[in-house]
Formats: sequence, structure tokens, C-alpha cells
Amino acid sequence: MFNRQQIQAALRHEGGISRRWFMAYAGALSSIPLLGRATWVNAAPVFSNDPFALGVASGDPDDTSVVLWTRLAPEPLEPFGGMPNEAVAVRWEVADDEGFRNIVNSGTTTATPQLGHSVHVEVPGLHPDRWYWYRFHSGDATSPTGRTRTFPAADSLPSHVRFAVTSCQNYEQGLFTAYEQMAQDELDIVFHLGDYIYEYEAGRNGKVRTHHGPEIESLADYRVRHAQYRSDSLLQAMHHACPWLVTWDDHEFDNNHADDVSEQEGIDPVEFLYRRANAYQAYYEAMPLRPTSLPAGSSLQLYRSASYGRLAQFQVLDTRQYRSDQPNNDKRSPLNEAALDSKQTLLGREQKNWLYRQLLTSDATWNVLAQQVMMGMVDRAGEPAEPLYSMDQWPGYAAERMELARFLQERRISNPVVLTGDIHSNWVNELRVDDRREEQPVVATEFVATSLSSGGNGLAEPRGLAKLKRNNPCVKFHNAERGYIRCSVTPETWTADFMVVDDVLQPGGKTAVRASFVVESGKATVNPMG
Ligand code: FE
Ligand code: CA
Repeated sequence: MFNRQQIQAALRHEGGISRRWFMAYAGALSSIPLLGRATWVNAAPVFSNDPFALGVASGDPDDTSVVLWTRLAPEPLEPFGGMPNEAVAVRWEVADDEGFRNIVNSGTTTATPQLGHSVHVEVPGLHPDRWYWYRFHSGDATSPTGRTRTFPAADSLPSHVRFAVTSCQNYEQGLFTAYEQMAQDELDIVFHLGDYIYEYEAGRNGKVRTHHGPEIESLADYRVRHAQYRSDSLLQAMHHACPWLVTWDDHEFDNNHADDVSEQEGIDPVEFLYRRANAYQAYYEAMPLRPTSLPAGSSLQLYRSASYGRLAQFQVLDTRQYRSDQPNNDKRSPLNEAALDSKQTLLGREQKNWLYRQLLTSDATWNVLAQQVMMGMVDRAGEPAEPLYSMDQWPGYAAERMELARFLQERRISNPVVLTGDIHSNWVNELRVDDRREEQPVVATEFVATSLSSGGNGLAEPRGLAKLKRNNPCVKFHNAERGYIRCSVTPETWTADFMVVDDVLQPGGKTAVRASFVVESGKATVNPMG
């Protein structure tokens, strides 16, 4: 075991920040307490309040198993969730029916203080393509019931899959009203593409409600923030409705970070990685992730694949943890030498190699990249000014971006579709190897989902829309209202409904379809419906 001073001394001894050193020490630091077995487990805990106030969730299904999640927190906004410093027994049940008459699997697991009394149960031996109900018991408390499902068998060709794409749910800036409609959409799965929480201090963006406490930095801070968000009854109800596949963007840790580099000047990378370890651990504790995503120090493997039979394969990416620093000081810039530098990476070498392998071996009709930042090379300035691109998004990593598009094209990857979050606005983009060259063939479609609540009520017609579309022929749709994308996918077509909420600043907002787009299998182009 090493303390912070010893790690910093070792790093200085190495003559600077060496990732390998830091990882080795941080791994030694954190994985021992996380994996440590409790010596004594309270089999009959007594709770003053409902320990299941954060509800339940499920996630990362495959064709025979799914992860069930809960976190015991009778006082969600207390640093330890109101739990004693002891391990407690939690019993879980999975049934074929909502009334739990036919229980198909059950067991007992341990919720430890080391992992914030979170529970991640991988239930094996389930049937493919089937709905199940689950719940937990601890002491004499019983959790709400959640509904979940397995994916279809790997070699089957399902007739359809329905899912939502959501991101960016700033708690202070808007209500999570859109989840009310989403819960009625009869979805098989929800993709959350990041900014599940925001790290900011109370009141910074206060419009409809207030964050608890200052900007979050400690493990306790991150835990409490996740608990505050998950206390939202609409968010909870959506987790109870179907399994989720989640990935993070920047705000689960810190705005616009790149790996160990803060957006602010003068932040010590070692200090920053300590904070990242806190953020990552709290994220794992709060999400229905498989134990393969258990963090080790300041690392957590979040990129992974999910196959919905042979209909769709989803590559869930992490474009934050391994990226090189944004070029041009993260200011909107022309695609200059720095942005086109082939050493710039958004994925990191390991993830990129993994992604290419996944795509090459996929036999799916639709090959989906579920990720964070916009891939469309969209000029946000335009004539008469010089074209300017976001350096925090794929254009800041333009060489890797174009290499990936060329790979999709040359390897004839079947029906590539990119799903994106991050920028609090809806977009439909036709992606080319170089989006500035309209004469190139379209390689893939990108659907960018707006924020669920971040930014408060937005605009159906963003300012400068006509000019933006004129300067960017790749952009087929752009809108800045709040909401999510609802996708319905068959072997023949991909339909995307842009769902928008008329008001997130007060309860009772109505959610409706603003626009729908369709991609036909075998054609890269995207067309409006109706
Ligand atoms: Fe956001
Ligand atoms: Ca973001």
C-alpha cells in the first residue's frame, strides 16, 4: 500500500509523470480494498428508512445473462448513504412474471461499504430474447420491482429492436420529463451516452432545482451526486422499465477533460487522476455494469460490445479516458496541422484496435458505434469567416476520424450508424471520409441525440440554421430542443424519431415526435420520413 506522498515521490524519482508508474501504484492502492472480502456480513440488518430509495436497475444484457443493480442508501444524500460501516446480505430474485410466482433464479450477495453498498449481480442461465422481473430483499425491506430482458440468441435474426438514445441530464437545468414518454415507448434497451451527472457546485446552473454541495471531488461527493440524480422518480422509473447500456462523457468526472489533462491550467495530473479514481469508482457503484468494469485505481474499462442477434452489433465506446489533449487549447479552430496530427487520438490505440477487430468480425446487419462526441465535421463559423471546428469533438482528432471512416468504407462494414450525445442538440449527419468534400460517397449515418434536460428549454430553429446547413451539406437536420431519439430497427430499415419536450422547466411537459428519419439497409444516405 502506498500513500499519495509516496506515489508523488516515486513519480518525481522517475523524472516526471509516468503513466505506467502511476497505474501500478494506483492499482495496488485501490483494488485491494475494493476486492477485499468482508469478514463478517450482517444477515439481518435493520434500517431506519427504505434502503432501496435509489431503486433498482439492470444492464449489459447478452443472450443468456443480465446484470442486476441496486445500492443500499436509506439516506441517499449522506456520505455513506446512511449505511453502517459493515457488509450486509442482499437477496435477489428473478422471475418469469411480475407477481414472482415463477422464480427462475435467486441468490444472496454482499453489499460492502468498500463499494458504497452497491450490488452488481450477473444472473446466468436465462433464456434468450425474454423479459424477466427482478427485485432485492435486505433485512425486512424489499426493493421496487424492475423489468429486464435478455438479447436474442447470437445466431438469430430478430425482426426488430427498439431503443432510446439519451444523454446530458443536468439536474439543475431541467426536469427529466422526457423519461415519462420513454417509459411508454416499449423499448428493449436504453443507451445513455454520457453526462449522466454534472459535477458542478450547487446553484451554478440552478433553474428548476439545486445540486447538493460544492463541485464534487471526493469519493463521497461523487456518490452523493449520483444518489441525488438517481433519487429522481422519472429516471428511476425508466431504469425499472428495461435494461440500459451506459457510457460516460466528461461530466461524470470533469468538464472537457482529456484522459489525465484538466481543462484548467496548472492542475497536477497526479491529483487529477486521484479525483478521476473517485469519479470512476462512484460511477461503477451507481451503474448496472458488469464486474468486468470494476475500476482499478484511476482506470475503468467501459468500452464493450453488445449483439442483438445478427440484427445489430453495438460498440459502446469511451472517447474520454484514453484521448490525447484537445489541440489548439480546445478552442474552435480551423482543421490545421494540430487538428490533423496523426498522433492525436480520441480512442487510444488499444480501444481502436479492439474496435477494428469487432467491426471486422461482426456479422450484424447494422453496425452501431454508441459514443459521445460528434463525428460530423461541422463548420460552426463559415463564410465570410474561416471555417471553425470543435476541437473537443472528432474534428480535433481529424486524422483518426478520417482513418475510421475510410476503414468503414474500404472494409465494407455493413450499415454503419454512429450514435452521439454531448452537445445538447439534435443532428442528423451524413458522414464521409472528409465531410468537407461533398463529392465523396456517404459512408455512414450519424444521429446526435439532444440533451434530456441540460440547457433548459431550447429552440426548434437554432440561430443561424440556414447558414449552418448551407456551409455543411453533411447536416440533414439540426434542432436544439430537449428530448431523446427513439430508434426502431429491422433488417430492412432504421427509423429514428426525434422526441422533443415542450417544457422542462415545470412539471407536466408534453413529449412528441419533432421529426423522423429513415436509413435503408444497403444505402448509407438518410432521408426524412413523411
Ligand atoms: Fe452535457
Ligand atoms: Ca459532454
